[in-house]
Amino acid sequence: MTIRVLSVASEIFPLVKTGGLADVVGALPAALAPYGVRLTTMVPGYPEVMRALRKTRLVHHYPSLLGVEARLLGGAAGGLDLLILDAPRLSSRDGGPYADPSGTQWPDNWLRFAALGRAAADCARGGEFDLLHAHDWQAAMAPAYLRYGGSPRVPSVVTIHNVAFPGRFPAEIFPSLGLPPEAFSIEGVEYYGGVGFLKAGLQAADAITTVSPTYAEQIRTPEFGMGLEGLIEARRDRVVGIVNGIDTETWDPAADPHLASIFDATTLELRQENRRAVEQTLGLDRSDAPLFCVVSRLTSQKGMDVLAAVAGDLVAMGGRLAVLGSGDPKLEPRFAAAAARHKGRIGVKIGYDEALSHLLQGGADAILIPSRFEPCGLTQMYGLRYGCVPVGSRTGGLADTIIDANEAALAARVATGFLFDEVTEEGLIRAVKRAIALFADREAWRSMQEQGMKADFSWKRSGRCYAELYQHLTEIAPRSKPAAKRSASD
Ligand code: ADP
Repeated sequence: MTIRVLSVASEIFPLVKTGGLADVVGALPAALAPYGVRLTTMVPGYPEVMRALRKTRLVHHYPSLLGVEARLLGGAAGGLDLLILDAPRLSSRDGGPYADPSGTQWPDNWLRFAALGRAAADCARGGEFDLLHAHDWQAAMAPAYLRYGGSPRVPSVVTIHNVAFPGRFPAEIFPSLGLPPEAFSIEGVEYYGGVGFLKAGLQAADAITTVSPTYAEQIRTPEFGMGLEGLIEARRDRVVGIVNGIDTETWDPAADPHLASIFDATTLELRQENRRAVEQTLGLDRSDAPLFCVVSRLTSQKGMDVLAAVAGDLVAMGGRLAVLGSGDPKLEPRFAAAAARHKGRIGVKIGYDEALSHLLQGGADAILIPSRFEPCGLTQMYGLRYGCVPVGSRTGGLADTIIDANEAALAARVATGFLFDEVTEEGLIRAVKRAIALFADREAWRSMQEQGMKADFSWKRSGRCYAELYQHLTEIAPRSKPAAKRSASD
């Protein structure tokens, strides 16, 4: 029997992407199809989404969705089955999905994503879906609207891709959310005196998933839970960690159109052409010295402040650095300055560049991921698949996907990268030093590349985990739902 799932998210590859969330949301439909799950994804009608749609059908017209006129459109784009919340007042604007072109968060984000959640809950109740799956805070109001919206009751899942983004807003927005007064409580959407969208979803959902088993454990602690640890701990029997898969077609070194030279584990020497292309693109000297790359948001979560501080040390140890990223306006100039100081040894591109992100993975020797926390992380898995050895901190999904090159792992030929414990300048320097030392042992390095390329990070396993969860929830749904008290209204 087919399980029909409404997946709800604020971004989806290849239409709109700011990070790993988009990759995962875009990959889930194909990942779950083999298990008899049909996923339709609801996303906001951003300009780039509207432009990608060829033919649409009107599913519903809202004269007033939380006070805003909106249409729900059915359509397809990029091979995805979509429902688009087309509310021009909320989505038709230049800039990113969350912020204006200057990087300032849109002041009406609460309304934009409450509307998404409300429309998703309405849809899920319409009879066409067996389950609702909401991703991160932007979609997390959907289960809350379901919970307070009366019957029919549909089971729901919230996936935490990053608990550091709680979607917290002032209490003053509550009356505009169209929820019954009792929803503003510790059992409902109230969160430290305001309204917490992620909190609301975690409280209402039948199951909570996050994107790696280690992160699932970590977010139960104050250090990583960002204030939600109590709730997550209380609901721990509903929490499961499922490592993200990667899209092995988009990320396939043997068929990647963004590479100067395609290659596989038996032709690793062809990576050299990609290395030359990276050098040319980023103004690096032609050299065979170990080339470290970064493809990342430049933020403190990603440890990029620490990397900026040790970039000179990396060069002094004989390494080179190629950075692609954007983010914190204070960090971007630090990398640009490092590139100016170490001309030919450090190359930096500030910005978002999908093609260059592939080329770096195909041409650099190692990828640096010194994250302070990392729910799953995708770039280390892309690195593993591309023979670009990951050097990451031992946290979250990095700990779950990289096998550290300690003596035992090297001897057994199972090592795939480097893990280090302290996200400090000393910790990162030590890890880089280890990598540079092993790079000198060509045979050991190659064996590590081959091991990484052998690992299976496809969606096969993770897809099955989600399918089993859906199956379980749809089977137990009628018994497990709390009785809804009152209908949500506009
Ligand atoms: P997060 O979602 O926390 O940013 P992930 O490692 O899970 O981190 O996913 C990041 C995704 O975004 C990867 O697909 C990575 O290749 C991509 N990415 C990050 N920064 C850039 C950039 N500047 N240009 C191109 N792709 C990027």
